[in-house]
Amino acid sequence: TALLQIREVSKTFHSDGGDTVALDQIGLAVNTGEIVSIIGPSGCGKSTLLKIVAGLDIDIEGDVLLEGEPITRPSREKGFIFQEHRLFPWLNVERNIAGNLSLRDPAVRRQVDDLITLVKLQGFEKTYPKQLSGGMAQRVAIARALLRNPKVLLLDEPFGALDAFTRSHMQEALLDIWRENRTTMLFVTHDIDEAVFLSHRIVVLDSRPGRIKSIITNDLTLPRK
Ligand code: ADP
Ligand code: ADP
Repeated sequence: TALLQIREVSKTFHSDGGDTVALDQIGLAVNTGEIVSIIGPSGCGKSTLLKIVAGLDIDIEGDVLLEGEPITRPSREKGFIFQEHRLFPWLNVERNIAGNLSLRDPAVRRQVDDLITLVKLQGFEKTYPKQLSGGMAQRVAIARALLRNPKVLLLDEPFGALDAFTRSHMQEALLDIWRENRTTMLFVTHDIDEAVFLSHRIVVLDSRPGRIKSIITNDLTLPRK
Protein backbone atom coordinates (compact mmCIF):
# COMPACT_ATOMS: atom_id res chain seq x y z
CA THR A 1 0.00 0.00 0.00
CA ALA A 2 0.99 3.63 -0.41
CA LEU A 3 3.18 5.39 2.16
CA LEU A 4 0.81 8.33 2.37
CA GLN A 5 -2.90 8.08 1.77
CA ILE A 6 -5.14 11.10 1.53
CA ARG A 7 -8.73 9.89 1.49
CA GLU A 8 -11.74 12.05 0.73
CA VAL A 9 -10.27 15.00 2.57
CA SER A 10 -12.39 18.12 2.78
CA LYS A 11 -11.67 21.33 4.61
CA THR A 12 -13.99 24.27 5.18
CA PHE A 13 -12.90 27.47 6.90
CA HIS A 14 -15.67 29.11 8.88
CA SER A 15 -15.67 32.84 9.48
CA ASP A 16 -18.07 35.71 10.02
CA GLY A 17 -17.98 36.45 6.31
CA GLY A 18 -19.20 32.91 5.55
CA ASP A 19 -17.70 29.53 4.80
CA THR A 20 -14.79 28.92 2.45
CA VAL A 21 -14.39 25.46 1.02
CA ALA A 22 -10.62 25.13 0.68
CA LEU A 23 -10.54 21.41 -0.18
CA ASP A 24 -13.36 19.26 -1.46
CA GLN A 25 -12.99 15.48 -1.39
CA ILE A 26 -9.30 15.25 -2.17
CA GLY A 27 -7.98 11.73 -2.74
CA LEU A 28 -4.33 10.96 -3.37
CA ALA A 29 -1.87 8.18 -2.61
CA VAL A 30 1.88 8.81 -2.54
CA ASN A 31 4.27 5.89 -2.83
CA THR A 32 7.58 5.48 -1.05
CA GLY A 33 10.33 7.27 -2.94
CA GLU A 34 7.93 9.25 -5.05
CA ILE A 35 7.99 13.01 -5.57
CA VAL A 36 4.51 14.37 -6.09
CA SER A 37 4.01 18.03 -6.78
CA ILE A 38 0.83 19.98 -6.25
CA ILE A 39 0.18 22.89 -8.55
CA GLY A 40 -2.69 25.23 -9.16
CA PRO A 41 -3.61 28.91 -8.94
CA SER A 42 -3.33 30.96 -5.80
CA GLY A 43 -6.03 30.08 -3.29
CA CYS A 44 -6.72 26.60 -4.70
CA GLY A 45 -5.87 24.90 -1.40
CA LYS A 46 -2.23 23.83 -1.89
CA SER A 47 -0.94 25.08 1.45
CA THR A 48 -4.03 23.88 3.26
CA LEU A 49 -3.47 20.36 1.93
CA LEU A 50 0.20 20.38 2.92
CA LYS A 51 -0.61 21.64 6.43
CA ILE A 52 -3.12 18.84 6.84
CA VAL A 53 -0.56 16.23 5.80
CA ALA A 54 1.91 17.85 8.22
CA GLY A 55 -0.56 17.36 11.05
CA LEU A 56 -0.76 21.12 11.60
CA ASP A 57 -4.48 21.13 10.85
CA ILE A 58 -6.51 18.16 12.05
CA ASP A 59 -9.92 19.83 11.93
CA ILE A 60 -10.89 18.14 8.67
CA GLU A 61 -13.24 15.66 7.09
CA GLY A 62 -11.68 12.50 5.70
CA ASP A 63 -8.52 10.63 6.59
CA VAL A 64 -4.81 11.12 6.13
CA LEU A 65 -2.72 8.03 6.79
CA LEU A 66 1.04 7.66 6.96
CA GLU A 67 2.05 4.00 6.80
CA GLY A 68 -1.55 3.19 7.58
CA GLU A 69 -1.64 5.29 10.75
CA PRO A 70 -3.81 8.41 11.00
CA ILE A 71 -1.89 11.69 11.12
CA THR A 72 -3.06 13.45 14.25
CA ARG A 73 -0.24 15.86 15.05
CA PRO A 74 3.03 17.24 13.71
CA SER A 75 5.88 14.81 14.28
CA ARG A 76 9.40 14.20 13.13
CA GLU A 77 8.14 11.63 10.63
CA LYS A 78 7.26 14.65 8.53
CA GLY A 79 9.85 17.21 7.54
CA PHE A 80 8.38 20.58 6.67
CA ILE A 81 10.07 23.23 4.55
CA PHE A 82 8.40 26.60 4.10
CA GLN A 83 8.86 29.38 1.58
CA GLU A 84 10.83 31.34 4.17
CA HIS A 85 13.63 29.30 5.71
CA ARG A 86 12.63 29.98 9.35
CA LEU A 87 16.15 29.43 10.64
CA PHE A 88 17.05 30.67 14.12
CA PRO A 89 19.13 33.81 13.50
CA TRP A 90 21.04 33.38 16.77
CA LEU A 91 22.22 29.86 15.87
CA ASN A 92 24.91 29.04 13.35
CA VAL A 93 24.39 26.61 10.47
CA GLU A 94 25.33 23.42 12.29
CA ARG A 95 23.29 24.31 15.38
CA ASN A 96 20.30 25.23 13.24
CA ILE A 97 20.53 21.79 11.62
CA ALA A 98 21.05 19.94 14.92
CA GLY A 99 18.15 21.70 16.65
CA ASN A 100 17.68 20.30 20.14
CA LEU A 101 20.13 17.43 19.53
CA SER A 102 23.61 17.78 20.95
CA LEU A 103 26.52 18.12 18.56
CA ARG A 104 28.69 16.56 21.26
CA ASP A 105 26.92 13.29 20.56
CA PRO A 106 29.22 11.61 17.98
CA ALA A 107 26.27 10.08 16.11
CA VAL A 108 24.58 13.47 15.79
CA ARG A 109 27.87 15.10 14.81
CA ARG A 110 28.38 12.55 12.04
CA GLN A 111 24.84 12.91 10.75
CA VAL A 112 25.02 16.71 10.73
CA ASP A 113 28.36 16.59 8.90
CA ASP A 114 26.93 14.18 6.32
CA LEU A 115 23.96 16.46 5.75
CA ILE A 116 26.18 19.53 5.44
CA THR A 117 28.06 17.65 2.72
CA LEU A 118 24.81 16.58 1.07
CA VAL A 119 23.54 20.16 0.82
CA LYS A 120 27.05 21.38 -0.11
CA LEU A 121 27.61 23.75 2.80
CA GLN A 122 31.03 22.51 3.89
CA GLY A 123 32.97 25.41 5.37
CA PHE A 124 29.81 27.21 6.45
CA GLU A 125 29.19 25.19 9.64
CA LYS A 126 29.84 28.17 11.93
CA THR A 127 28.18 30.78 9.71
CA TYR A 128 25.06 32.57 10.92
CA PRO A 129 21.89 32.78 8.79
CA LYS A 130 22.16 36.50 8.04
CA GLN A 131 25.46 35.86 6.25
CA LEU A 132 23.95 33.21 3.99
CA SER A 133 22.37 33.76 0.59
CA GLY A 134 18.72 32.78 0.18
CA GLY A 135 19.63 29.54 -1.56
CA MET A 136 22.13 28.56 1.11
CA ALA A 137 19.64 29.29 3.91
CA GLN A 138 17.07 27.09 2.20
CA ARG A 139 19.65 24.31 1.94
CA VAL A 140 20.18 24.58 5.72
CA ALA A 141 16.42 24.26 6.17
CA ILE A 142 16.42 21.14 4.00
CA ALA A 143 19.30 19.62 5.99
CA ARG A 144 17.49 20.40 9.25
CA ALA A 145 14.37 18.64 7.99
CA LEU A 146 16.34 15.62 6.76
CA LEU A 147 18.13 15.15 10.10
CA ARG A 148 14.99 13.57 11.52
CA ASN A 149 14.94 11.02 8.69
CA PRO A 150 11.40 12.02 7.83
CA LYS A 151 9.26 9.47 6.04
CA VAL A 152 7.96 12.27 3.90
CA LEU A 153 9.36 15.70 3.16
CA LEU A 154 6.72 18.40 2.76
CA LEU A 155 7.80 21.45 0.82
CA ASP A 156 5.58 24.51 0.51
CA GLU A 157 6.91 26.68 -2.33
CA PRO A 158 10.40 26.24 -0.90
CA PHE A 159 12.10 28.19 -3.68
CA GLY A 160 9.35 30.74 -4.29
CA ALA A 161 11.29 33.58 -2.70
CA LEU A 162 14.51 32.90 -4.61
CA ASP A 163 15.71 34.49 -7.83
CA ALA A 164 15.41 32.37 -10.98
CA PHE A 165 19.08 31.46 -11.09
CA THR A 166 19.25 30.30 -7.48
CA ARG A 167 15.93 28.53 -7.88
CA SER A 168 17.23 26.37 -10.69
CA HIS A 169 20.33 25.52 -8.63
CA MET A 170 18.08 24.51 -5.75
CA GLN A 171 15.92 22.34 -7.96
CA GLU A 172 19.06 20.49 -9.03
CA ALA A 173 20.16 20.24 -5.38
CA LEU A 174 16.84 18.75 -4.35
CA LEU A 175 17.03 16.20 -7.15
CA ASP A 176 20.53 15.26 -6.01
CA ILE A 177 19.16 14.66 -2.53
CA TRP A 178 16.41 12.51 -3.96
CA ARG A 179 18.91 10.49 -6.01
CA GLU A 180 20.97 9.92 -2.88
CA ASN A 181 18.19 9.17 -0.37
CA ARG A 182 15.04 8.46 -2.40
CA THR A 183 13.18 10.71 0.01
CA THR A 184 9.43 10.75 -0.52
CA MET A 185 8.31 14.32 -1.16
CA LEU A 186 5.11 16.26 -1.46
CA PHE A 187 5.98 19.52 -3.13
CA VAL A 188 3.77 22.57 -3.50
CA THR A 189 4.63 25.06 -6.23
CA HIS A 190 2.88 27.43 -8.56
CA ASP A 191 5.66 27.02 -11.10
CA ILE A 192 4.67 24.47 -13.74
CA ASP A 193 8.22 24.12 -15.06
CA GLU A 194 9.43 23.34 -11.56
CA ALA A 195 6.74 20.68 -11.16
CA VAL A 196 7.66 19.07 -14.46
CA PHE A 197 11.36 19.10 -13.61
CA LEU A 198 10.95 17.80 -10.11
CA SER A 199 8.23 15.22 -9.85
CA HIS A 200 6.99 11.79 -10.78
CA ARG A 201 3.40 12.95 -10.67
CA ILE A 202 1.77 16.35 -10.82
CA VAL A 203 -1.51 16.97 -9.06
CA VAL A 204 -3.37 19.91 -10.58
CA LEU A 205 -5.84 21.55 -8.21
CA ASP A 206 -8.76 23.55 -9.51
CA SER A 207 -9.28 26.99 -8.01
CA ARG A 208 -12.87 26.45 -7.02
CA PRO A 209 -13.88 24.54 -5.06
CA GLY A 210 -10.54 22.98 -4.11
CA ARG A 211 -10.81 19.83 -6.16
CA ILE A 212 -8.31 17.76 -8.10
CA LYS A 213 -8.54 18.70 -11.75
CA SER A 214 -6.08 16.10 -13.01
CA ILE A 215 -3.12 13.98 -11.99
CA ILE A 216 -0.38 13.85 -14.58
CA THR A 217 2.24 11.12 -14.63
CA ASN A 218 5.57 12.61 -15.59
CA ASP A 219 8.37 10.46 -16.99
CA LEU A 220 10.44 13.31 -18.32
CA THR A 221 13.27 13.61 -15.85
CA LEU A 222 13.11 11.25 -12.90
CA PRO A 223 13.71 7.54 -12.82
CA ARG A 224 11.16 5.56 -10.85
CA LYS A 225 13.62 3.57 -8.80
P1 ADP B 1 -2.95 28.13 -1.93
O1 ADP B 1 -1.89 27.59 -1.04
O2 ADP B 1 -3.25 27.24 -3.09
O3 ADP B 1 -2.70 29.53 -2.37
P2 ADP B 1 -4.56 28.05 0.47
O4 ADP B 1 -4.50 26.63 0.88
O5 ADP B 1 -3.68 29.00 1.17
O6 ADP B 1 -4.32 28.15 -1.10
O7 ADP B 1 -6.05 28.59 0.61
C1 ADP B 1 -7.17 27.88 0.08
C2 ADP B 1 -8.45 28.66 0.41
O8 ADP B 1 -8.68 28.63 1.81
C3 ADP B 1 -8.39 30.13 0.02
O9 ADP B 1 -9.68 30.51 -0.40
C4 ADP B 1 -8.02 30.79 1.31
O10 ADP B 1 -8.49 32.12 1.33
C5 ADP B 1 -8.69 29.94 2.34
N1 ADP B 1 -7.99 29.93 3.62
C6 ADP B 1 -6.74 29.45 3.83
N2 ADP B 1 -6.39 29.56 5.12
C7 ADP B 1 -7.46 30.13 5.74
C8 ADP B 1 -7.74 30.50 7.09
N3 ADP B 1 -6.84 30.29 8.07
N4 ADP B 1 -8.94 31.05 7.35
C9 ADP B 1 -9.84 31.24 6.39
N5 ADP B 1 -9.65 30.92 5.10
C10 ADP B 1 -8.48 30.37 4.78
P1 ADP C 1 22.87 28.23 -4.69
O1 ADP C 1 22.33 28.24 -3.32
O2 ADP C 1 21.86 28.12 -5.76
O3 ADP C 1 23.99 27.25 -4.86
P2 ADP C 1 23.79 30.83 -3.95
O4 ADP C 1 23.54 32.09 -4.68
O5 ADP C 1 23.06 30.61 -2.70
O6 ADP C 1 23.52 29.64 -4.95
O7 ADP C 1 25.32 30.70 -3.64
C1 ADP C 1 26.25 30.29 -4.62
C2 ADP C 1 27.60 30.07 -3.94
O8 ADP C 1 28.17 31.33 -3.62
C3 ADP C 1 27.48 29.35 -2.63
O9 ADP C 1 27.50 27.94 -2.73
C4 ADP C 1 28.70 29.86 -1.87
O10 ADP C 1 29.82 29.09 -2.18
C5 ADP C 1 28.85 31.28 -2.37
N1 ADP C 1 28.25 32.25 -1.44
C6 ADP C 1 27.01 32.79 -1.52
N2 ADP C 1 26.78 33.64 -0.50
C7 ADP C 1 27.90 33.63 0.25
C8 ADP C 1 28.30 34.31 1.45
N3 ADP C 1 27.51 35.16 2.12
N4 ADP C 1 29.52 34.06 1.93
C9 ADP C 1 30.34 33.25 1.28
N5 ADP C 1 30.05 32.57 0.13
C10 ADP C 1 28.83 32.76 -0.37
